[in-house]
Amino acid sequence: MALRRYDRNNIILIFVARAFSPRGKETNDIPVARRSAQRRWSAYLSSKNSIALFIGFIFLCLTLLLRTDFLFLYPIPLVEELKTTSDGRLLGHFPYGEAMKDDLVMVYADMWIHKDTFAAYKLMRDAALDDGIELVLLSGYRSHKLQKQIFFNIKSTRNQTAIQRAKVSAPPGYSEHSTGYAIDLGDATQRETDFNEGFGETDAFAWLERNAAKYHFILSFPPENSQGVSYEPWHWRFEGTAEALREFEPARRFSQLQ
Ligand SMILES: [Zn+2]
Repeated sequence: MALRRYDRNNIILIFVARAFSPRGKETNDIPVARRSAQRRWSAYLSSKNSIALFIGFIFLCLTLLLRTDFLFLYPIPLVEELKTTSDGRLLGHFPYGEAMKDDLVMVYADMWIHKDTFAAYKLMRDAALDDGIELVLLSGYRSHKLQKQIFFNIKSTRNQTAIQRAKVSAPPGYSEHSTGYAIDLGDATQRETDFNEGFGETDAFAWLERNAAKYHFILSFPPENSQGVSYEPWHWRFEGTAEALREFEPARRFSQLQ
């Protein structure tokens, strides 16, 4: 198994420390008064430890200067796992900034969304109601800080690796929710389908499939999406303004290229 960076540094430090420390047996044979004299620098230079000391010192300097990556010609696993792709994606998700606070409106306690998203959502919700469908707004804006808690807490409680977790939740800094343009929707008559694929079988979802585009909402993660994220029938993003379109341009272009 590959050694981690701090393990390597520990080994190097132990090596250097041994080179510095006098041998126990030899030291104990010397009277206390004479030991300090033997530890002097000049004594070390003339001792057989001097070569090991010199090699250890050079090795430590090189390690610090070159940060070990050059000396150990294999990748470091922790870094490898969270490497972004050339288009900026991390574990399939595109990076997103946080919405400006002034652009957010509070729908109810702890539920904020972008004002443009909310305006379009209200029109869509009312139109659905006219057709006998009651949509429920389950979540909207999430700060990077909140996304960090969600991603890492659930990852650890479910004993999942970052790669497994990223299929169902974006890493912090990579969630569409941080833009304020993404919302999660439920069916008021079938709350047991909240946040699960069962929502895809509800009347509310069928209505959204037929009508959401009129209000500029699109399904971000359909089945077998090119980003490799799990199917999320409840997650819709708003693309009804130039700003919103710009936010999702990389994701849209990527899905069209696949
Ligand atoms: Zn969502």
